Amino acid sequence: MFCPKCGSMLLPKKINGKNVMACCSCSFAGKEEDNAKIVEKAQEKKELDIVDKDDDDSLPLTDAECPKCGNKEARYWMIQTRAGDEPETKFLKCTACKYIWRDYS
Ligand SMILES: [Zn+2]
Ligand SMILES: [Zn+2]
Repeated sequence: MFCPKCGSMLLPKKINGKNVMACCSCSFAGKEEDNAKIVEKAQEKKELDIVDKDDDDSLPLTDAECPKCGNKEARYWMIQTRAGDEPETKFLKCTACKYIWRDYS
């Protein structure tokens, strides 16, 4: 997360007893709602990156049933959704209808 004013890194700070993201080099401090929006935007972007993946010819094939069309073959890739402490998420893309879904198992 970066400061919308100066582009420096935002760091979590306690202001008036509330945890907010504040800029380390200027006076910018996000309100809680603003921070929620920043996080939402970041996540939205991530989802788009996933859907935009179109170099699927190089992805490995696997046996998986498409929840949309019932096709039994999909290409898959792994994405580290958060830094470090969470396991990778497996994404599958149907070879027939191009539907993309997550495999949580
Ligand atoms: Zn700043
Ligand atoms: Zn399908």
